[in-house]
Amino acid sequence: MIESTERKIAIERMQRLFELASQRTLMGGDSLKLAKKYTFIAKGISKHYRISMPKEIQRNICKKCDAILIPGINCNVRVSRGWIIKKCNICSTQKRIFI
Ligand SMILES: [Zn+2]
Repeated sequence: MIESTERKIAIERMQRLFELASQRTLMGGDSLKLAKKYTFIAKGISKHYRISMPKEIQRNICKKCDAILIPGINCNVRVSRGWIIKKCNICSTQKRIFI
């Protein structure tokens, strides 16, 4: 069983890495590689401590290429039949979120 303090710290780290990754994604260019690296590290933390990522982070990461999905920059968003569908422009993977 994981202690609650360890859990809290892990979640804080994941949130910080997500912030940094979104900033890097907005910068574009070579910073995109760094953004993917940050996402990869955040996923690693989640696996190591066996805790799921916070939903606001989970819903904004591409499953396949680890990119942060920001509408209008690297993803398209549409709504159909009660689902939000986010399509990554880099690898064209779709992410379906039930409303
Ligand atoms: Zn992708």
